[in-house]
Amino acid sequence: MGKVPRILSWRNMLVLSLAVNFSLILRILKGTDGGNSSYVVSIWPVVSNSLDRTVYGDSKWPVVSTTASGSSSLSSASCNYNETQEDDDRIINLKLGDPMVYERYWQEMGHMTTMVIAGWQSLSYFSDNNNELCWFLEPELAKEIVRVHKVVGNAVTQDRYIVVGTGSTQLYQAALYALSPHDDSGPINVVSAAPYYCSYPLITDCLKSGLYRWGGDAKTYKEEGPYIELVTSPNNPDGILRESVVNRSEGILIHDLAYYWPQYTPITSIADHDVMLFTASKSTGHAGMRIGWALVKDKETAKKMTEYIELNTIGVSKVSQLRVAKVLKAVSDSCGNETAKSFFEHSYDAMFERWKLLKQASKTSKGFTVPDFASQRCNFLGKVFEPQPAFAWLKCEEGIVDCEKFLREKKNILTKSGKYFGDDLSYVRVSMLDRDSIFNIFLHRISSSFNSTL
Ligand code: PMP
Repeated sequence: MGKVPRILSWRNMLVLSLAVNFSLILRILKGTDGGNSSYVVSIWPVVSNSLDRTVYGDSKWPVVSTTASGSSSLSSASCNYNETQEDDDRIINLKLGDPMVYERYWQEMGHMTTMVIAGWQSLSYFSDNNNELCWFLEPELAKEIVRVHKVVGNAVTQDRYIVVGTGSTQLYQAALYALSPHDDSGPINVVSAAPYYCSYPLITDCLKSGLYRWGGDAKTYKEEGPYIELVTSPNNPDGILRESVVNRSEGILIHDLAYYWPQYTPITSIADHDVMLFTASKSTGHAGMRIGWALVKDKETAKKMTEYIELNTIGVSKVSQLRVAKVLKAVSDSCGNETAKSFFEHSYDAMFERWKLLKQASKTSKGFTVPDFASQRCNFLGKVFEPQPAFAWLKCEEGIVDCEKFLREKKNILTKSGKYFGDDLSYVRVSMLDRDSIFNIFLHRISSSFNSTL
């Protein structure tokens, strides 16, 4: 056994390794279908990561519906959900809210947001903003944040401090840092009403902070003393508009308004809370730019949040801030355009179509239900409609106890179990934000029998 190295010298190994790597790269470039160049090649099946994206095999699935000339068309916001290209063995992953539903819009309108950033730009840590508080906030971004909230009418910006973060995930942590007592009273409890956003407990407890700790379901919270309550409205996972539930004088509130945009819910009032978190991930679909912003009433809180971001990442990518500023500008500009549909009208239509089809499927299949929502008038779109959330909070019926397991084993659909949201195994959260082709398969599969003995 010890003599093997004499058969294969290091030179042989090097050549062999190069050959294997080269053929792998060729396979990736050609796609797994043998290199049909009209299809989009995805690297997801090759790169393994903790987000479970490995199971996607997008190589066979056109991303955009195209016209005869080859250009994509936004003339109809909805895609043809009747044309199902099913492959029963293909696993589809709807665990995460990856906002790919917006891809079609931005492929069409992307020229409005294309920018060139020269190598000499973004050298300094500092932004040239005369902002003695959030010193890394790009003034262009601040301007467009204020503008888009004014256009949509979904949040107060006047006399508010803006803190920018690497996604609202960082801002959530900054807010916990800023709002927790820094004396030796021990960690403050952080609560949210179940079903709550599944990342809150994980983010809150990941570093076992001495300042704060996860305190569980706000509906059953009984402890005395100060606490922080997270109010997510519309809520992830179930899309319900929420208010605080503990309602005690020592409560400190953080409002996560990631989904308070007209494509998901009627905008019924201008939100005005102490700390409000927003994100580009869910408003415009630019999750990859990793930009969120907080609108904060109290100067000291905003200062402390800025201090956290300074300690954590010494600011926030300027390139990303400039890109999000450009995207928000395009969105606000589109709202003032009388002749074309705005970004929110397009995305409202896309979500409307998906929810219509999902509700129809629920009625015909009888194997699952989705929540009932009350209609309200949206001040921005000027019409009455039901919420059409970014996730479906789906409940398996017909005696199926573990909905996530059933959908995974019988339907090849990956979802997030209700247990991660502080709820029951009969519920799952399903993303409504994936590409048309994936949503199409999902719809097709859940429309067929839910007989658990299949
Ligand atoms: N809050 C809620 C309620 C969310 O659903 C998400 C994204 N899933 C976030 C915050 C995090 O957003 P970001 O990508 O900006 O970190």
